[in-house]
Amino acid sequence: MAGLLALGLILGSTPGAQAAEDGTQGTVLTGPAEEAPASLLLPLEPAVSEPSAPASADQYLAALDRLLALGLSQEEADSLWLRQGAAGIETCLQGEGAAERLSLLRLSFAHPERLDRYQAELARSPETSPEEAVVRVNIGLDAPPYGVGEPVDEPASLTALVNKYHPLPADYVPELELLPPGYTASQGARLRPEACAAFLRMADAAAEEGLRLYSASPYRSYAAQERVYQRYAAQQGAEAADTYSARAGFSEHQTGLALDINVASLSARFEETAEYAWLSAHSWEYGFILRFPQGKEDLTGYLFEPWHYRYVGPETARLCHEQGWTLEEFWARQPVCGTGPVLTLEGEPLSFSRLPLVLDGDVYVPAEELARAIGWASAEQPDGTLLLWGERRQARLSEGRSLLSGGSSVSLDCPVIRANGVLMAPVKALCQALDLPCEQGEAGLDLRTSADTWDWVQKLDQSCRQHGITLEQAVGGLAVDRLERWISPAERWLSPQLDLFFWAAGRK
Ligand SMILES: [Zn+2]
Repeated sequence: MAGLLALGLILGSTPGAQAAEDGTQGTVLTGPAEEAPASLLLPLEPAVSEPSAPASADQYLAALDRLLALGLSQEEADSLWLRQGAAGIETCLQGEGAAERLSLLRLSFAHPERLDRYQAELARSPETSPEEAVVRVNIGLDAPPYGVGEPVDEPASLTALVNKYHPLPADYVPELELLPPGYTASQGARLRPEACAAFLRMADAAAEEGLRLYSASPYRSYAAQERVYQRYAAQQGAEAADTYSARAGFSEHQTGLALDINVASLSARFEETAEYAWLSAHSWEYGFILRFPQGKEDLTGYLFEPWHYRYVGPETARLCHEQGWTLEEFWARQPVCGTGPVLTLEGEPLSFSRLPLVLDGDVYVPAEELARAIGWASAEQPDGTLLLWGERRQARLSEGRSLLSGGSSVSLDCPVIRANGVLMAPVKALCQALDLPCEQGEAGLDLRTSADTWDWVQKLDQSCRQHGITLEQAVGGLAVDRLERWISPAERWLSPQLDLFFWAAGRK
């Protein structure tokens, strides 16, 4: 429990003797009822920072060199570039304390504007790692809970984070569905339809293994939570009530996505049952996560509650399960810049092994991956140039502001660069030089490919597989003899492209 900050650690003397987060039996960690400024609260949407000044490829290459030399990975360096740009990186690396600043800001989920708070967190608790400090501050743990912050933006989102830092609006009532008899211990038990359907499937799967799962406490309204809290406050005063009962609005049960399974009591020792073991192994497969796990008490603000599960959808549940994250950590670890500028192919988003970057006003991505994405083939040549071909044309790329196409030099508006060994192409400039369709779409820069070319590359790829050679080998001229042999009359569909083949292979 070291590093428990802002959470007044008040444990009930006997487990099970006090009301839990939802007024059920259990023991809860809560904090003083001080108010946090709204600005300290975690924004739930990853911010996309606009570059403050247009950056040049030269500035990027200089910054990249420095960051790689300091031990950052390519991905960390690109992420830092996206968040900070040339000037911000310069500030980070200058003067005293540079190593500490870099250890924090290299994390893709570190918000530069929270740097002071990250540093304060490190200073407060020297055994905390930079990663832990950033996660804790992003959760908001460096401020007292129950602040008057903005209510949860999208309460209906399956991943909405509701905790002591993020209340639901008082009037929020989700769409609800009654749990069928046999699946619940209480009358009128309701859940959101998505969570209800997933819970029924999960309970049915457990039943096949002879285990019974039922809901002990699903949706609870704001008013019901208010009654529970007010009862305790009247009996013992608000300050005492805050130590074991959630205030109305701060309980996840109001989302309709959370439920207590079988019991809601530490004294019942649900964690020692076969049902709990089954849930630990399988709940994520149905989109549920254990919301208050053991060992994460200082992040969630609650003691281990083996019975409390939250529906977040299959994708998020899988991620949290694989990474061992709570929902707080899932949100605290969202990359600040997303994934950089978006590039699409006929409206469908493309992804690359490196984050796309905007340099000199153009979007840069790895040239080879770009070629593949638009249905062109590519092959790195022994002289370090990159041969691209498709659309019955070819081009030879190397660093600089020109490329070779059809034997003549074509100039580019932005330079092709080599960053950490990889040729990065300016997308707009390359498309313009090669007369390829490319325009600003709704989501981002949108590329096109002709069905013809795509079809041809698919066929070629298939033929290469049949003959046990790679596309790169075929094109790089490493298998020209075999290529000549296997062009049978049946494969004459290749003929329009043969010129290019042999040109590529240097054999024409
Ligand atoms: Zn609960």
